[in-house]
Amino acid sequence: MNKRILFVEDEPGLVMTLTDRLRNEGYTVETSVDGESGLARATNERFDAIILDVMLPRKSGLDVCRDLRQRGVTTPLIMLTARGQIVDKVVGLKLGADDYITKPFEMSELLARLEALLRRVPTTTETPTVPSDVYQFGPVRVNFRRAEVESNSEPIELSALEFRLLRYFIEHRGATISRDELLNEVWGYHALVSTRTVDVHVAWLRQKIEQNPRHPQFILTVHGMGYKFVG
Ligand code: CA
Repeated sequence: MNKRILFVEDEPGLVMTLTDRLRNEGYTVETSVDGESGLARATNERFDAIILDVMLPRKSGLDVCRDLRQRGVTTPLIMLTARGQIVDKVVGLKLGADDYITKPFEMSELLARLEALLRRVPTTTETPTVPSDVYQFGPVRVNFRRAEVESNSEPIELSALEFRLLRYFIEHRGATISRDELLNEVWGYHALVSTRTVDVHVAWLRQKIEQNPRHPQFILTVHGMGYKFVG
């Protein structure tokens, strides 16, 4: 099966050379040219590995790496660091990068590191921490890539927060999730809202995706604990 690689880099020359080489080796390669879009793609799509440059416009590779790990995205990641920037290597590994390689590098070395990394970690198909582009439960179909949800082929309007909430439920289906966890993971670490807010938003989400919101079929309440998504 083709391994899917996300390459986040803004130098057109390097993007072209490395992309060509990876494709010749049989990889499927997607590229992003800045940190923001790289983060969005790495969060919303499934990749087998990410090659991430540190020096990027809009958001540095270090920030992208940290945000990905905080969001629970565990895709294997190789960081490209500039020569002499030892601090980037240390910080990168601390923030959750699996390996790093210093620019300028030999293509063959990068390929060897990438292969080693892909062998070392289980493939994303075995441990789906990020859902594939489309997920369906009951009559509801979620397209993560396009951030669209429909039920019985009718579009459902979700707020950005509701979408993140639904996404978190799907990613953790079957697990009991506390309100505090939802606050931390969906609202963010510094959210100044009470757990009651979580209940309100879950209720709204149920209104939109459940056939009968008073007797939810997918987002269940686990009394005294939180919620559990089944679907
Ligand atoms: Ca760069």
